[in-house]
Amino acid sequence: MLEKNVDFAVYTKHNPTKDGYFGTYGGAYIPPQLEAEFARISQAYETICKSSRFISELRRIRKEFQGRPTPTYHCERLSNMLGNCQIYLKREDLNHTGAHKLNHCMGEGLLAKYLGKKKLIAETGAGQHGVALATAAAFFGLECDIYMGEVDIAKQAPNVARMKLLGARVVPVSHGLKTLKEAVDAAFEAYMKEYEESMYCIGSVVGPHPFPMMVRDFQSVVGIEAREQFLEMTGNLPDAVVACVGGGSNAAGIFMAFLNDPVEIYGVEPLGVGTKRGEHAASLTYGKEGIMHGFKSIMLQNEEGEPDPVYSVASGLDYPSVGPEHAYLRDLGRVNYKTASDDEAIDAFFTLSKLEGIIPALESAHAIAYAMKLAKEMGTGSILVNCSGRGDKDLDYVLEKYGDRLK
Ligand SMILES: *Cc1c(COP(=O)(O)O)cnc(C)c1O
Repeated sequence: MLEKNVDFAVYTKHNPTKDGYFGTYGGAYIPPQLEAEFARISQAYETICKSSRFISELRRIRKEFQGRPTPTYHCERLSNMLGNCQIYLKREDLNHTGAHKLNHCMGEGLLAKYLGKKKLIAETGAGQHGVALATAAAFFGLECDIYMGEVDIAKQAPNVARMKLLGARVVPVSHGLKTLKEAVDAAFEAYMKEYEESMYCIGSVVGPHPFPMMVRDFQSVVGIEAREQFLEMTGNLPDAVVACVGGGSNAAGIFMAFLNDPVEIYGVEPLGVGTKRGEHAASLTYGKEGIMHGFKSIMLQNEEGEPDPVYSVASGLDYPSVGPEHAYLRDLGRVNYKTASDDEAIDAFFTLSKLEGIIPALESAHAIAYAMKLAKEMGTGSILVNCSGRGDKDLDYVLEKYGDRLK
């Protein structure tokens, strides 16, 4: 299973390289005027974030503000329904604000504070990243500008209200299709003008170096906790670890702790409603190598290098690329990347709610759906699934479209 040239016991020490490469993926494709600033952030990450003062401050924040450690939970009723294989959930839905995203937003916010920045900048699509970052900004007393397409603003009224309540400025983006792609451009343009006093906070293990590494490291608390909890609960390691993959931050967070263990690892991409272009967002499954948003990875794009349209019932998963480290771990053969469709995720959403009293985010439901399939195939053993978030945000949509299942 392990690639002969890679020693996973020391893998994170050597990956990424100093220039931010995981194999041939990653790097930093940024305008020349930002190179010095990105070098400064990289340098600060190596010195500040690894200082005992930063680490102990982040540890206190995680405990007292976020409510960490989140528990690991044995799904007995779900496991019994499927057979003998035992399913466990890492409960990131119980992290403050209801998902794993706050793990890296608090890390990025704390680094911005140490760097003397006054403002956090980001774009958001469905609003989840915007809400998590606005929460971090409120905690640290920083300003926060969130760029959001006008179409998304109209669709995501509750998240827009949350961001404003948390003190963020929601900046409407009114050109092009007025959605995430335009919001990314607008946020980056604004950042270019005010990078001296602000920090651009990327919402997953994507973007130019050092963000894929920083976000991975801030999320790795998930896997470290889960591995320890699982060992304590069962005396063993799980046979398999499963997580959904949009950009790949919750997956990277739980995978890292298990890379050097005899554990099968699965990342689950959204298959949406089909395998045709525009019907899914399964970047690693159907994409090819390219450069987008400042990094090289596997992506869904047309001949001109423009991002393909993507779709998933889970808005947190509909990204046309994937973190460069996932592309590398796939090539190494260390992580298996699979898919789950909208229908499978919706089934898992209803099943977990009813059998365990846990309403998962539709994103997380993709991982649970694949784990349910895998449990039947394995017949025995154990699977640890990252439940990346709670599903309250998805209720209105699910009830409108699938409400007749409740009758
Ligand atoms: C945003 C989000 C995801 C997808 O992001 P990753 O970077 O792939 O983890 C998954 N689950 C939830 C609950 C989210 O909010």
